[in-house]
Amino acid sequence: MVRILVLYDAAAPLGFRAGRRPEYPSRVEDDEMSKFDYDLFVIGAGSGGVRAGRVAAELGAKVAVAEEKRPGGTCVNLGCIPKKLLFYGSSFRDHFEYARSYGWHAGSPSFRWEELVRNKDREIRRLNEVYRDLLRRAGVDYVEGKAVLAGPHEVLVGSRRIRSRFVLVATGSRPWRPSVPGIEHTVTSDDVFSLPARPDTVLVVGGGYIAVEFAGIFHGCGARVILVHRRPLFLRGFDIDVRRTVATAMERKGIELRFETEVRRFDREGEKVRAELSDGTQVLADLVLCATGRVPATAGLGLERVGVELDGAGAVVVDEYSRSSVPSIYAVGDCTNRLNLTPVAIAEGDAVARTLFGPRPVRPDHANVPTAVFGNPPLACVGLTEEEARKRVGKVDVYRSTFRPLKHTLTGKDELALVKLVVDPVTDRVLGCHMVGEEAPEILQGFAVALRCGATKADFDETIGIHPTAAEEFVTLRAPVAPAQ
Ligand code: NDP
Repeated sequence: MVRILVLYDAAAPLGFRAGRRPEYPSRVEDDEMSKFDYDLFVIGAGSGGVRAGRVAAELGAKVAVAEEKRPGGTCVNLGCIPKKLLFYGSSFRDHFEYARSYGWHAGSPSFRWEELVRNKDREIRRLNEVYRDLLRRAGVDYVEGKAVLAGPHEVLVGSRRIRSRFVLVATGSRPWRPSVPGIEHTVTSDDVFSLPARPDTVLVVGGGYIAVEFAGIFHGCGARVILVHRRPLFLRGFDIDVRRTVATAMERKGIELRFETEVRRFDREGEKVRAELSDGTQVLADLVLCATGRVPATAGLGLERVGVELDGAGAVVVDEYSRSSVPSIYAVGDCTNRLNLTPVAIAEGDAVARTLFGPRPVRPDHANVPTAVFGNPPLACVGLTEEEARKRVGKVDVYRSTFRPLKHTLTGKDELALVKLVVDPVTDRVLGCHMVGEEAPEILQGFAVALRCGATKADFDETIGIHPTAAEEFVTLRAPVAPAQ
């Protein structure tokens, strides 16, 4: 029997670039196939693994996906989705307050953390089933258990030995904590989604995505929040105006930010944890959230044993097609430590499936990837920061507007919003688009399309605004301002 592969010649979706593939065989020949149980064996049913498995199966490959925990990976179980639900939950506190200025009086609202967590858990369980179903309907075998590599084409799940023409490692990442005395008294983002009660005082250690997001969530849910970060400002890697605006806005809301401060040690004191800080002060908290980064989840998979090269951080080293140093083994998502974002893992998984089983190889494009931090206030951006743009093209034009959103003319709140464009004055191309404000993540998605299309400042200027919105600020920025640094 000749294995029939669906000829998939649709235009590559945005974000993918077709390339040449002489060295990447995709057709699975009958005689070769008889040696294998599967064309593709995916380790990890997270965002990248599920996409790769599903697309490969749709392209005619025989696929299995192994997962030792719940389907959906970090995004569904301990990341993006539950975080966004908690973010929504936490944002009502502000909305109840704003509502009064618009004539609404609903007594004094009360908040029940357990109810939010229970409802969130119900939705996550539903999504677990959706993920299983996606695979089932695509004809992918779901294998429960921990898969370990036993050879370039061989995987062990318990006592089962499975042979596959290709193996895809999509095992994600896990939280990392520094070795500070008493660090065991802290929790990570893996633990915060199932806390039995809302802590009254929360100490957040770190200054990245998770630290800023959970500082906002716990504050919104009514806790006192102190964020401690070792540098003069948090959110390293984001545009400097964005970082400053978010810091000011968070402090105005009452979140205590302690920069250039480190934790020396943690001690348990009954139900609480005492943190000793480098500035000589102490914080007594009900919960300490350590949000100091994540590391690739590659330990114990047998990767080194079969010759897969890992970098110093433990990430699988891959080429632009996500192929590892062993030709039959690919890797996508956080375990490769490229751009650790769910939609990027999905794009990488999709590209691997099309490269191996589609008509031509596809490379995921890591340029101009939009991203958002769901803090309070949220921020979002696409393209280069002012600093990166200056390094790339030399002199840049900067357009910036800091304003109070219309909604807050009635609330009287000191809420801040920022929009900023970084433009190459020679080509007029918009290189970076940044925003802080309530709907920033929703607004920036559309501008990400514009940047992919190579939009110029003139294109922005010629676009009619939607009035009155915060988003229209992006198309009404007329004169360049002084650089931020
Ligand atoms: P990040 O890498 O974003 O931030 C880690 C933070 O911890 C940095 O501020 C870093 O400081 C600090 N840090 C690192 N080591 C130490 C140390 N030894 N002592 C004190 N502070 C330290 O990691 P997160 O854990 O916040 O998130 C992990 C990744 O997950 C993100 O980078 C992102 O890719 C993804 N993610 C995406 C989200 C989204 O899309 N909205 C949401 C959550 C996570 P410094 O800057 O000095 O290095």
